[in-house]
Amino acid sequence: MVHKYDAVIVGAGGAGLMAALNLSPHGRVAVISKLYPTRSHTGTAQGGIGAALGNMEEDHWEWHMFDTVKGSDYLADQDAVEILCREAIETVYELEHWGLPFSRTAEGRIAQRPFGGHTKEYGKGPVRRSCYAADRTGHMILQTLYQQCIKNQVHFFDEYHLLDVLMADGRCAGAVALCLATGEIHTFHAKAVLDATGGCGRMFRVTSNAHALTGDGMAVALRAGVPLEDMEFFQFHPTGIYKMGILLSEAARGEGAVLRNRTGERFMERYAPTLLDLAPRDMVSRAMYREIREGRGIDGKNYLHLDLTHLGADVLDKKLPDVTEFVRTYLGIEPKKERVPVQPTAHYAMGGIPTDANGRVIVDEANTPVAGYYAAGEAACVSVHGANRLGTNSLVDILVYGRRGARHAASFIKENDWAPLPERADDRAREQVSRLMPANGKERVGAIRDALQDEMMEKAAVFRDAQTLRAMRETLQELRDRYARIKIEDRGTKYNTELLEAIELGNLLDLSEVLVESALGRQESRGAHWREDFPQRDDINWLKHTLAYKTANGIEFRFKPVTITRFQPMERKY
Ligand SMILES: Cc1cc2nc3c(=O)[nH]c(=O)nc-3n(C[C@H](O)[C@H](O)[C@H](O)COP(=O)(O)OP(=O)(O)OC[C@H]3O[C@@H](n4cnc5c(N)ncnc54)[C@H](O)[C@@H]3O)c2cc1C
Repeated sequence: MVHKYDAVIVGAGGAGLMAALNLSPHGRVAVISKLYPTRSHTGTAQGGIGAALGNMEEDHWEWHMFDTVKGSDYLADQDAVEILCREAIETVYELEHWGLPFSRTAEGRIAQRPFGGHTKEYGKGPVRRSCYAADRTGHMILQTLYQQCIKNQVHFFDEYHLLDVLMADGRCAGAVALCLATGEIHTFHAKAVLDATGGCGRMFRVTSNAHALTGDGMAVALRAGVPLEDMEFFQFHPTGIYKMGILLSEAARGEGAVLRNRTGERFMERYAPTLLDLAPRDMVSRAMYREIREGRGIDGKNYLHLDLTHLGADVLDKKLPDVTEFVRTYLGIEPKKERVPVQPTAHYAMGGIPTDANGRVIVDEANTPVAGYYAAGEAACVSVHGANRLGTNSLVDILVYGRRGARHAASFIKENDWAPLPERADDRAREQVSRLMPANGKERVGAIRDALQDEMMEKAAVFRDAQTLRAMRETLQELRDRYARIKIEDRGTKYNTELLEAIELGNLLDLSEVLVESALGRQESRGAHWREDFPQRDDINWLKHTLAYKTANGIEFRFKPVTITRFQPMERKY
């Protein structure tokens, strides 16, 4: 079946919905989403969206920009960060005008709270910058945007799974997706495609990411010849619930919660004397691993405590209701009275599909765009987060760059006709499905995925070195061999989740390979990428972005310079 639209957005999280909403006045717009839109991961974001509104104390977008660049370990492109921090402010007011129920100050303004790495006067101390709706900020953003999209006649194709993106004459011509309800393959012929398919945290065992975050859009782009940028940088969030990885928002520490080791010590005093528990996530996660390695985990085990007991019932009930409820539900612990077991949890892909500041997908270090192909949100890398993202900056990124991509696409669809649909456009997608469908081997998808997640956690997580990464390279080869021998028992066409999980696993395997090869290549430590065999940041050789291409000979690399405008790289102290 072939559909024809001016623009197709893949993904209905914050980035996809913001793009759809901004494109909808300019043409016929379809959104394809494998999840029902309001189930997208954006809806789980708790802590808030960062913008220098200055509602609680003095603040400026320049300070926000400085913090973001320093937080990124100087790998972020500063032109893109400037746009992010300037446009954050109008974006938050726009959400407010669409009806988003922000938490308020006594005077009725949008309330703001501190978050990791956000400071006043270029690093002098924490600043209240995160705008929030209790600890349900993402939920409110998603509901608000979805209502606006429905009001503006966006067409939704819910539970359609992207399989391929179509290229013709160097242009993007559309996308191919599988309808979950029927098993049919649909081709979407479009002048512009915007990928907003989110992250890929499911490559790790302990993760805050929902099951659907398997990096499908990134893997599709990679197979279509687009490089992936900076995939070696994967963020671990300090406070996942022990063993489960379910996130306890940084908002908890923003409201005053502290991390403690087995002696009860507030160990962040030793690692970040100024910002303490609100240092950036890469530093706090590494400090936690060090405490555990040196035997100061709770009972000598691999977890630490998040202490909320001193915050008082009022703060917990009004500002952190979800955090406290999660602790009760998943651990059976009363956070008002007891400390909570936490460990770092795989959280956010800094890397992704490379784009310019207008959301256009680019294919090389000269920023050459693919006409009609756009990406935004966690699937994309613009790059505003560099080697380490600050909390609250993803929600800004998805909205600011979702909108910018849409604005550029709006003029593109006005000025251009449809690229001709390639003949037998859905061949590659059909082939992918038919390769998997009669799969009659002995290997189970679940078992391979378990092995992948355990091994990635062991060998390619917070600390890495050449030895662990080479071992992971071999493990991936074995897992790919096993993947070629999988068994799919469900031969049905309706809601064949076994088939979908197999497709998703294939994507995770491809992306893990890119992560491992990129991490092996980068012989320095920067942000979330910590090489024990190269423990220093090396600005002379490595102040550059990785672009990884999938070729017949494996992963090949090119490198792109970092754009530096206002802030020269400095030592990172907090
Ligand atoms: C628990 C948690 C809490 C967080 N809290 C915060 C916070 O407080 N502040 C902050 O700034 N950031 C936070 N983050 C990060 C932030 O929420 C995400 O990075 C961001 O919401 C991603 O938005 P997105 O629109 O790019 O993708 P998502 O919201 O993940 O949406 C992806 C969309 O793509 C669709 N999709 C995926 N694959 C396919 C496919 N194959 N075919 C069709 N559709 C597909 C999905 O259906 C979905 O609609 C948090 C993240 C987590 C996991």
